[in-house]
Amino acid sequence: ERQQALADTHLAVVTRDGARVTVKANVSSVATARLGAGLGAEGSGLVRTEAVFAQWHRAPTVDQQVEVYSAIAQAFDPHAVTIRTWDVGGDKPLDFIPIEEETNPFLGVRGIRAFRKDPALLLDQLEALCRVARGQRLNVLFPMVTSLDDVDWARARLQEAARRVGLSAPPHQLGVGIMVEVPAVAVRLARLAHGLDVISIGSNDLSQYTLAAERCNPHVATWSDGLDPAVLQLIRCICDRAPEGVVVSLCGELASDPDVAGLLVGLGVRELSASPSAVPTIKARLRAGSLRGMQDLAASAVTARDAAAVRDLLALHA
Ligand code: PEP
Ligand code: MG
Repeated sequence: ERQQALADTHLAVVTRDGARVTVKANVSSVATARLGAGLGAEGSGLVRTEAVFAQWHRAPTVDQQVEVYSAIAQAFDPHAVTIRTWDVGGDKPLDFIPIEEETNPFLGVRGIRAFRKDPALLLDQLEALCRVARGQRLNVLFPMVTSLDDVDWARARLQEAARRVGLSAPPHQLGVGIMVEVPAVAVRLARLAHGLDVISIGSNDLSQYTLAAERCNPHVATWSDGLDPAVLQLIRCICDRAPEGVVVSLCGELASDPDVAGLLVGLGVRELSASPSAVPTIKARLRAGSLRGMQDLAASAVTARDAAAVRDLLALHA
């Protein structure tokens, strides 16, 4: 299966009944971007910038960021990349963005929340993205957005960054998006995603917040399963509620499991961003299936008893 998948990996994905699905790669460095592009990923749906600079003790300058983001975008040319702003806090420490100790870090100062008091490092990053977007199409993605105020605040910072590079508005080549990883955002998606270009479902965090079970705590692993029908129903809601014209992508670990890809498409997701090595197999599996079959599978999965029953369904459909 792997050999055939590798041979065909640069072909687009069209299901047997004609549905087009885009498969991208999650990347954390220039090297993984090149790897993903070489394995047939049609762009990146998630560049984890906190991972790109994880070993740095001091914040990268705007110029240093421009260099790295340009190289990542170049690796996928002519496909677009989606670059996420610093997603610090929770399970992601960064030396140059210290977070005060908290009792519940996953419910604390995380993602976009970390910059409310002092947006300086976010502004530098947005300035770098505005500069890169002058030369190539790309999207910026804000993590851990919870409220409409978060969206407005983030957009205002982007506007501020654009002015720093001498523009009156963010470059039109720069799409704007939010991560959907907090249930409150899924519930109010039509309102919160209004006017955006992309949304990206972070199924890892969406699962832990929906099921109230920490993503990396082995003692609660049975509760924090992304295949829980509650999570699948939320993913379906997000696809149904996304405003017209907003691209819905899914970049959590669920998208990296070739056995699950068809289920996600059946729920309404048309863009998956997976770990680079999984891209060829996911593309091959989706090409071999039909949208109709994937929708039938999804209809059964959302009403299944639990995640184990969903896995049984996946095995039946494999
Ligand atoms: C997610 O939460 O699913 C996601 C893709 O972001 P991260 O794993 O980096 O938190
Ligand atoms: Mg997340």
